[in-house]
Amino acid sequence: MGWDIEIDYDKCVGDEECVNACPASVYEFEDGKPVIAELDECLGCETCVEVCPEGCITVTEV
Ligand code: SF4
Ligand code: SF4
Repeated sequence: MGWDIEIDYDKCVGDEECVNACPASVYEFEDGKPVIAELDECLGCETCVEVCPEGCITVTEV
């Protein structure tokens, strides 16, 4: 059991909020956009979902 993360890059404004808010350092910031670097570390807390102003992020239990 784990978590899958999807980012809608068409909506992302690159404000880095998700990167800074994630308590598990799942994201890295590259070329102005967040990338999922450590998916195995995801806690499924949805903090990134809540802080994203554009509704770009979906976290799903898999
Ligand atoms: S759900 Fe929580 S742990 Fe997972 S990427 Fe988002 S903020 Fe980080
Ligand atoms: S919080 Fe949302 S808009 Fe901001 S960098 Fe992350 S995915 Fe993009």
